[in-house]
Amino acid sequence: MSILIKQAEIITGNEMYEVFKGDLLIEDNRISQIAERIEGITVDKVINAAGKTVIPGLIQSHIHLCQTLFRGQADDLELLDWLSKKIWPLEAAHDEESIYYSALLGLGELIQSGTTSIIDMETVRHTEFAFQALASSGIRAIAGKVMMDKGEGVPKNLLEKTEDSLMDSVNLLEKWNNFDRGRLQYAFSPRFVISCTEKLLTNVRELSAYYDVRVHTHASENLKEIEIVESERGMRNIVYLDHIGLANPKLILAHCIWLDEEEKRIIKEKGIKVSHCPGSNLKLASGTAQTPEMLENNVFLSIGADGAPCNNNLDMFNEMRLTALIQKPIHGPTAMDAKKVFKMATIGGAQAMGLENEIGSLEVGKKADLVILDLNDFHTYPSVEVDPISRIVYSATRGNVETTIIDGKIVMENRIMKTMDKSIVLKEANNSMKRLLSRIENQTLAM
Ligand SMILES: [Zn+2]
Repeated sequence: MSILIKQAEIITGNEMYEVFKGDLLIEDNRISQIAERIEGITVDKVINAAGKTVIPGLIQSHIHLCQTLFRGQADDLELLDWLSKKIWPLEAAHDEESIYYSALLGLGELIQSGTTSIIDMETVRHTEFAFQALASSGIRAIAGKVMMDKGEGVPKNLLEKTEDSLMDSVNLLEKWNNFDRGRLQYAFSPRFVISCTEKLLTNVRELSAYYDVRVHTHASENLKEIEIVESERGMRNIVYLDHIGLANPKLILAHCIWLDEEEKRIIKEKGIKVSHCPGSNLKLASGTAQTPEMLENNVFLSIGADGAPCNNNLDMFNEMRLTALIQKPIHGPTAMDAKKVFKMATIGGAQAMGLENEIGSLEVGKKADLVILDLNDFHTYPSVEVDPISRIVYSATRGNVETTIIDGKIVMENRIMKTMDKSIVLKEANNSMKRLLSRIENQTLAM
């Protein structure tokens, strides 16, 4: 399929950060030409984007699609209570169908708000059905089942034997890694240090090296969490991850709020990818990550909304705005400008995925992951003499997203989803949630 996007304001996000008015040609799943005018060719589809803005697809480096159904079920709690009182029992109650619709609900929201790629952590069971949703939705993703072989207050059917956790992960990896020309990839996803034995984590290290895939986990999100890690393992969280050989450029750590100097040095020197989750960090009262300092130290930084029950949206426009604003009362008004934030939301996310040569900017030869914005609205005007990046980060909302293209395919056009039936997803999301809640109430969880 070839698509010609005509006469748009194109925010390339390339090295020079060029912004210009012109045409963009997509052939198969790649951008084959960007020029002021592309004429004299036959294409399958022309999109007249005069007056519209084209940006690289937004990339969220930390998402839990399995939790989308729990939106609004776990407000006003801090992390460890949030997990043990609400999230783990709900995750334990999931069935195949509920995982599938939880994923589709999240994916609909993500695609409709301009997110084209995610790094997703699922729950312990039924991850096959999340992969089916990822496959059919058209999104680009790195995903994996969560791994948990220890921990207090964990429902029985979320607690795995070490060998089962590793075997289930490898089975999913062998089925889904590199699906659809690499659109889907697998990542080993241990939940966080306190949910995992050292045996599990060292096996994950060996397997991720063997299969050449990423490891995605949470780290240093909450003060109590790092206290537990210190008392159990005898060292601080990131120091421990380094000690067991997990600290390397393939490691993606969500949060990283509470770091000491040694941990900051490890993250920088080992090329670890950090996913900043400002909405979740605020709502769970976790703290504020020192992102300006990380950027100054050239740490790889990207952004994620985390899960729907700790946010309660998966909207990257919201997260971009928060990423900038939460630093300003602490570090002053210039601490985190719009361009730095936009880079985190695009090429930063691509680096977290290891795909910086494929996505994250609009350049010839890169994969065609892009979003068409209609910024002709009250809240995004005037448009004259306004920095286009400022307009996107500070003023635009997800309502400005008109069309989303991923891997050269139109997955949403004029706000209509092409890869799922919205009314069915909404209805089945409610049906699934009713089932989960009654399962918890009746304590009919499979043990
Ligand atoms: Zn998370």
